[in-house]
Amino acid sequence: MKFPSLQDREIENSMSDTALKKLSERDKKHLWHPLTQHKIHPEMLAITKAKGALLYDEEGNEYIDGIASWYTVMYGHCNPFITQAMARQMETLDFVMFSGFTHRTAVELSERLIEILPNNQEKIFFNDNGSTAIEASIKMALQYYHNKNDKRDTLIAFENGFHGDTFGAMSASGLSSYNGPFEDFLLKVERIPVPQEDTIDIVLEKFEAIIKNNSCAAFIFEPLVQGAAGMKFHSGKGLDALIQKCREKGILTIADEIMTGFGKTGKNFASEYLNHEPDIICLSKALTAGMFPLSITSCSLEVYNAFLSDEVSKGFFHAHTFSAHPLGCAAALAGIELLNSIEILERRRYIEKAHQQFVSKIEGHHKIETARTMGVILAIDLKIKSERYGSQRDRLYSYFMEQGVNLRPLGNTIYTLPPYVITNEQLQKIYDSIEAALELF
Ligand SMILES: *Cc1c(COP(=O)(O)O)cnc(C)c1O
Repeated sequence: MKFPSLQDREIENSMSDTALKKLSERDKKHLWHPLTQHKIHPEMLAITKAKGALLYDEEGNEYIDGIASWYTVMYGHCNPFITQAMARQMETLDFVMFSGFTHRTAVELSERLIEILPNNQEKIFFNDNGSTAIEASIKMALQYYHNKNDKRDTLIAFENGFHGDTFGAMSASGLSSYNGPFEDFLLKVERIPVPQEDTIDIVLEKFEAIIKNNSCAAFIFEPLVQGAAGMKFHSGKGLDALIQKCREKGILTIADEIMTGFGKTGKNFASEYLNHEPDIICLSKALTAGMFPLSITSCSLEVYNAFLSDEVSKGFFHAHTFSAHPLGCAAALAGIELLNSIEILERRRYIEKAHQQFVSKIEGHHKIETARTMGVILAIDLKIKSERYGSQRDRLYSYFMEQGVNLRPLGNTIYTLPPYVITNEQLQKIYDSIEAALELF
């Protein structure tokens, strides 16, 4: 079969009338963007290329990607080690369905992940994004009890948690700015505040009351750091106590490591700070180094074994077309190889130290409520009132972009979670622009 050459097509396309218009103009005609009120924010910035920690727009301006494009591209944009692994994969096996078939990169990725995940994790289930990894984890927990003839209908989750935008994930999430119109259509979830060092007993008490009065299937949480809530930290000791309580009461625990996974908190997974291992873990985002949508729900043998039966219907009948896409698996394998390479480890340690020094420097500033850091995460709460997507927040966002830094404040929280490959100078520029932003109000 003969196909037209790509080069001919490119020349032809670039001479058309539409191609002469700016992308940001053409965007307005047919596109609907996520998390956007288009009446107030009609303008989107067109990004035409990216390299390392930098994004370039269609005017040629550059921006430091201070949040690693939603915490995904931790090894830098267009990292050749990863793009080459994907290119090789693309020429060998592009895609094959994952029911009835398996393939080399999925097998190798499962082996690699089980080596680095907490010890009790034994099985890897694939999905294609964070929310669907969460859906699978919730369905696993509910069916785990169903298969044991134990009907349970309640989940326990933290206030202000974020777990995604599909219905199960939305139910577990406690951020009303996303869930508002759907509140009446959600799963049954009971909520507790996150434990701080001095509130562990109060939270435990509330937790026990919920367990007593409900038929609880699972406790789902973002371990140690609630990302979308504004990089809020809580007590590992407190979380451990809650997990232990679940153990005692026979309730499954689900760690949502979609944001925290792959080194962000200083360890490969935030769960490593805990004494008790979760039964189920959800991974996505940096899993594929930001190169491809893919996600994983891993679990212990105890969970997996509850699905083994002579009855077909006790199996886990959940699938997405693109489960275990070979391109995503190839990116993930290459990413894991980089994660603990000497080069990346050095960068991770450098960023951690630099963040700590920056926090010490600005902590007492009269416009700052608190400043905190863990691993490569740095967050600063300002002493201003600001809605999650309100005007003060927009002003800060615009200011950072004018400075050539992509930071997306959440309400009154400014945070950065840069790619590990960010240079010392680029990191310094983020700090400088945060300090300058304090003079804005
Ligand atoms: C981003 C995120 C999700 C949802 O992942 P999507 O790929 O956006 O569906 C779930 N949990 C946490 C902690 C996240 O940060």
